[in-house]
Formats: sequence, structure tokens, C-alpha cells
Amino acid sequence: MDDFSITDFASARTAGADALRKRIEHHLVFSFGKDRNAAQLTDWRLALSRAIRDEVVVPWFETTRRVYRQDGKRVYYLSLEFLIGRLLHDATVNLGLEDKARAAMESIGIDYDRVVLDEPDAALGNGGLGRLAACFMDSMASIGLPAYGYGIRYDHGLFRQGFDHGWQTEEAEDWLAQSHVFEFERAEAAIPVGYGGEVVPGSGDSARWNPAETVIAAAYDTPIPGWQGKWVNTLRLWAAQPTRAFELSAFNRGEHVAAATPAILARTISRVLYPDDSTPQGRELRLRQEYFFTAASLRDILRRFEKQYGDLSLLPHKVAIQLNDTHPAIAGPELIRLLVDERGLSFDAAYDIASGCLNYTNHTLMPEALERWSYDLMRHVLPRHIGLIERIDERHASDCAAKGRTISADVRAIDHGEVRMGNLAFIMARRVNGVSALHTELVKQTVFGELNDLHPDRVVNETNGVTPRRWLYSCNPPLRTLLLDTIGDRWISDLEALEAVAPYADDAAFRERFAAAKRDNKRRLSDFIARRSGVAIDPDAMFDVQIKRLHEYKRQLLNILETVALYNEMKRNPAADWTPRVKMFGGKAAPGYQMAKLIIKLINDVAAVVNTDESLDGRLRIVFPANYNVSMAERLIPAANLSEQISTAGMEASGTGNMKFALNGALTIGTLDGANVEIAERVGPENIFIFGLNTGEVAALRGHYNPGEFIENSPRLREVLGQIETGAFSPDDPGRFHQLTDNLRHQDWFMLCADFDAYFDAQRRVDAAWKDPAAWVRSAILNTARSGWFSSDRTIRGYARDIWGADPSA
Ligand SMILES: *Cc1c(COP(=O)(O)O)cnc(C)c1O
Repeated sequence: MDDFSITDFASARTAGADALRKRIEHHLVFSFGKDRNAAQLTDWRLALSRAIRDEVVVPWFETTRRVYRQDGKRVYYLSLEFLIGRLLHDATVNLGLEDKARAAMESIGIDYDRVVLDEPDAALGNGGLGRLAACFMDSMASIGLPAYGYGIRYDHGLFRQGFDHGWQTEEAEDWLAQSHVFEFERAEAAIPVGYGGEVVPGSGDSARWNPAETVIAAAYDTPIPGWQGKWVNTLRLWAAQPTRAFELSAFNRGEHVAAATPAILARTISRVLYPDDSTPQGRELRLRQEYFFTAASLRDILRRFEKQYGDLSLLPHKVAIQLNDTHPAIAGPELIRLLVDERGLSFDAAYDIASGCLNYTNHTLMPEALERWSYDLMRHVLPRHIGLIERIDERHASDCAAKGRTISADVRAIDHGEVRMGNLAFIMARRVNGVSALHTELVKQTVFGELNDLHPDRVVNETNGVTPRRWLYSCNPPLRTLLLDTIGDRWISDLEALEAVAPYADDAAFRERFAAAKRDNKRRLSDFIARRSGVAIDPDAMFDVQIKRLHEYKRQLLNILETVALYNEMKRNPAADWTPRVKMFGGKAAPGYQMAKLIIKLINDVAAVVNTDESLDGRLRIVFPANYNVSMAERLIPAANLSEQISTAGMEASGTGNMKFALNGALTIGTLDGANVEIAERVGPENIFIFGLNTGEVAALRGHYNPGEFIENSPRLREVLGQIETGAFSPDDPGRFHQLTDNLRHQDWFMLCADFDAYFDAQRRVDAAWKDPAAWVRSAILNTARSGWFSSDRTIRGYARDIWGADPSA
């Protein structure tokens, strides 16, 4: 390989925009077969993307060579979700090619920004968990960590949301429609994955598993360049394919559909991303998906390891595997299976090796979100693994017994006819981490309390973070420019360097420039909203934004109830000096989650009334653009003044939206939940609006909570509930929201009623603060200046140090 120097290829990074332009035109013609005269915007985008991808290849090879040379530990990040968004601009920026790409496209006569916006989002995730995986990929490459992401190449990512008379509609999303130009297909890396069948005992601990079906996991690699393109990692996504394209004998008999059926069933495995609150019908397929990508990834990891090393006991020294939530938790038994059945190790040796490699990130303590599979389903789909899980349970129990500890049924991986993936992941992990300081404490005290007692050194905290390249540098050009002008560029790769802008909070001229950058973003967003939804909004109003998955614990309902209460006050007292506000919502409800869908309808119904009420003079507007995704977040966050982070305390493990907003100079209104706690510590109490019950108070109230008392004592809340119940916002169907209001009156698990008055009051503190623009902008600047710690570079350095024992090269 050495006599062939890849660096001989001309690179646009060293050459000029002209060389890049030639490369783009070359791809247009020779990769996509388009004549210049016939080329559409999309053709130019594909051609530009290929030209940019070309620039990644050489550093990608170089990274691989360095990783082999350095002989260090490799990190494998297994995640059922990667919520990537668009790739073109991100890659261009990281390679330092933005100016050249703009110039090259301009010389062709095409606007670079339009090209960028033409790319569909890769929405291979639901929300924060998937977006975290995407931020981590950027950070691992930016700090030079030898790392691979492994996931599923879904044909259809998260559904496309629309509204029909205010009700959510769902349509299949089609991100692959125009080919995924950044990936490389790796036909040679295909891996067979089995399901079902029977297990024949072998010698010693081993067994022979004869699966009833086999599908092929086909590898597709997307290179992920870090900041400045010095290091390029790989995201390997698996697509399910049949072992044979079709049954020729059936086809020849004239059974054309039957001939294609096995292929269709095989491909089903990577057909769609499951919305997290999935229906029971989807459960078996979901289990198949989890095993599919975990099994393919582990085989790939072992193959790479064995190419370099002969001694399997080295595995924990050379391989760290991170399980992003319990979705890949079948990795424990699968790795043991590979070592015992295919490499001839004893069960105990395999157990020790596997548990030296695996680590587990917990993302939620909500019981309904901790995965459990029925024993029978698991045995049906993975007959070899169910036996291994039983042995894992026994081994864990005997290890504990040897230390004089008895264990309860609560910590078993199998109990009451169920396989508990949380316990399985914990037992098999070298390290378990929570995703914020508060969440990690709750992990130790609640769901995993007993396991933590048994293994007191296992649980560590790694507070989430977000990549500053996408979530500040790329998405907020006006603020980026101001920061570069003021403090230079170190913050892009060392976000805590933003501290240097803190002193400028007291500089009136800087405040004016900071405010102007925000206004710029708000004006652009106002135009977008006017185009998209026909609602005119005032760019000088306060932009009050809540964007995240629709879920009861995130309490979008609390926000809209407060909005109605504010509306009522404004109507009662129209002459008062009300702060003009635009309430913005964005988020999708899982298709089977009726309550969340009803909340969307309520928000849209309230919007219809408020937005057409002339008596308010436009001082209150509600907008809910459909189809919230990464690209929409990139538009909304830089334009936000107020960030809504109002979950019931103890329920949001961390949040990352909260970090993106603070970084972009929005002030937070929020509960002491998840990473809000750490944001408050850093930005200071005078620069954040904290309200409501804290975790301890929620827990203390839980046993005897009676929402009726709170409603009784809150005239405002009483009025709002009465209006909703009598159809003030749904005259065509006055009973429409009874399910919501009845739930609030009689159950209210998420304690909206308890927090309502405190939230209303906090919003009035926000109004008062807005009236002093200099003080507001000062707080906004301090939010940006003090959010540097929330870089995912910092998070990844923490994982590398505390969990993986791996060394970043930068
Ligand atoms: C950051 C992000 C999230 C996570 O938001 P939270 O407010 O932390 O729940 C979800 N979806 C998208 C598209 C994001 O960019």
C-alpha cells in the first residue's frame, strides 16, 4: 500500500475554488450523468456533495493508518438511532471548505445556501438520544478518537409530520429517494444474522445454533470528518438484505409473488425506524432490529480485532463498546456466544472478556421506557441467547454470593417471564453512566439502587453535550461572526474559551452587536414562518420556543395552558403594557400516543383562536410549524429569546435542547431537572428563570397528590380548564379535550396543576426582565459565555477517560 501514495490526488483544500468547481462539474457529468444544461438544483447538490466527499477520503485513509500504527484502544458506539440531519454543510464546514464551496457554486451560477437546504434530513432517530449519538460522532472525530458508530440504515427514518385541521398526520419519510451521496457501500463486509431455529448442545459450554432464518447485514459507510478534517471516523450503518435475491425455482413455476416474499420479509428489518413508544405489533420486529445491528456490529468488531491480534484476552484492552441505551443490550449474550460457540472459550472466560468491553448509557428512569421482552418471544427469536442470559444471571448471582451478598429478584435479568434489558445491560457493563449529575444520582438511588449497592464503582456521570460546530458555528452565522471578531476561533474546538466574551456583557457596543445578531436570526425565521404557515410574526416580539418530542412529561400542555391564561389576562386588561410574545412549538407525537396527539390538536386549536383575535394587536402569536427535525432546530434555536425546559422534575434525564438554546443566547425558563440544574449553576441564578417543584418535592408529593386542590386554589387554572371543557377553543366539538382535562383533574401524573401558578409567575418575571433590554442582552451574552462546558467534546473526553480508557489524539 505504501508505494501508492493517495496524497498525490489533488485536493481542493490546498488548491483553489477553481479546482473544486472542476471536481463538481466532473461529478455532475461522470457520477450522475447530467448535462450542465439539464442539471437541476438537486443534481448540483449531489455533485457538490461528491466533490466534498472526495476531500474526506484521503484524511480518512490516513486516519485508518494512524489508528493501526498507534495500536490503541478503539471505541465502538452502538446506537439504534443517529439523528444526523443534513450532512453537506457540516462536512464542508469541518473541512474548512465553506468559502471555496460558496465561490465554486457562485461561479457556476447557483446559490450555495439553496443547495444546502435542498438536502433531506437523515432522520434516523426520534429525538435527544439519537441526536446525542450524532453529536458524539462529530466530537469523537474532532478530538481524534479512533471510533466507529454502528447503527441501522433505515429506508425510512422518522415519519414526516403534517397537520390536517390541527391534527397530526404521518407520512413515510424518504431520505434515500435521491441516493445517499456520502456513503460507500461495502459489499465485501456483509454479515449473516440468524433468527429462530434450534440449539444443539455441544462440548463444554458451547452449543450449535441452527437458525431457522438468516438475513444479510450489508454495510454502508459514511465518513465523519472532525473539525478541520484532520481526523475522519466511520459511521457504519447496516441494511438488511435477503440471503438470496429471490427464489428462482418458485419464479420459474410462475409464483412471482411467492418468489419475492422471503426477500421482502428480510428487508423489513431495516425498513423503518420505530417511534419509541411503539405498539405491541411492532415489538417482535423491534427485537429483530436490535439483534440485527448488534450481531452484525459485534462480528465486525471481532473481525477487525482478530486481523490485528491473536489473543482474545486482549479484547478489553483494545475494544470499548458503548451501548446507547438498552437497545443494543443483547450485545452481552451475543459477544459471549461468539466467544464460546465460535471461538471455543469457556463461558466464564467469555463472560469476563465481554464484561470488560461493554458499557451502558442509561437515558431514562421511566418504567415504561426500560425495555422488557417476554421470555417466550426472546426464546422464539433468539433461542441460544435466552439460555445464555440465564447463565449470565446465575454467574452474576454467584459472584455476588462469593462476596457475601444476596440479591433480590429486582436485579435479575430474567424475572416473572420477562427479560429485563436494563438489568442485563447493567450486569454486563464495566461502566454504567447517567447523562446529567441529577439523573446519575437518581440512577443510583432508584431503578438501579440495588445494583449500584452491589457494584458501587460502576456508575459514573457523563453530562450530555452538543457539538459546537453544528449548534453554533454552522447554525448561527451572525453570532459566529461576532464571536470570531471578538475572541478569535479557539472556541470552535475548545468551547469553554467562550468565557472570554463574558466581560463584554458590560460593553454597550458589544451588547448592541449581540442583539443585532439575534435580530438578524429572528428576521430570517419570521420570513420562513410567514412562507411556511402564513402567520405574520413581529421579529421584535419575544420568541418563546418549546421544541422537542411531544411527551406528557415534557409538559407542552403546561405551556399551552399558561398561554391561555396569559391570553385571558391580556383580554381582561388590553391597555396594559404586555410584552409581545411569539409562542413557538415544534415536535412530533409517536403515532400511537393518543394523549400527545390531542395536545398537538389543543395547541393548534388555541393558536387558531389567539392568532385571529384582533383585540390583541398581534401581541400574542402561537406558531407550530409542522415536521420538527434537526434542520428546523437549526433555524429556530438561533432565533430564540426564551427556551422552555419545563419537564416534571426527575423525568428529563438531561436534555440537550436546553444546552443548544443557552449556547445561542436564549434564556431558559425551566424546572430543576436534568441538565437544567447544571446550566443554572453555570449561568447563575440571575440569568435563568427557575420555577416549580424540585425532584424531592415531586417524590414527597407523589403519594398523596390531589390535583383538585391545586385547581381549587388557582383561579387562573380553573378558568383555563373551564374554557377548554366548554369548547372555547373547539366550538365544533366541545368535548374534544375531555380526556386531557379529566386526566388533569383526577390524575395529573406529571403534576402540571401543582406547578401551574409557579410557572405563570415565572413567566411574568420573564416579561419584567424583557422590559430592560440591556439587562436581557447582558444575560443572553452570559448564557453564551458560560455554556462552553456543554460541548460534546467535553462529554466525549469524559467517556474516554472514565469509561473507555481510550486516548484522544487531539
Ligand atoms: C436537540 C434535539 C432534540 C433533543 O431536544 P430535548 O429538548 O433535549 O428533548 C430532539 N430533536 C432534535 C431534532 C434535536 O435537534
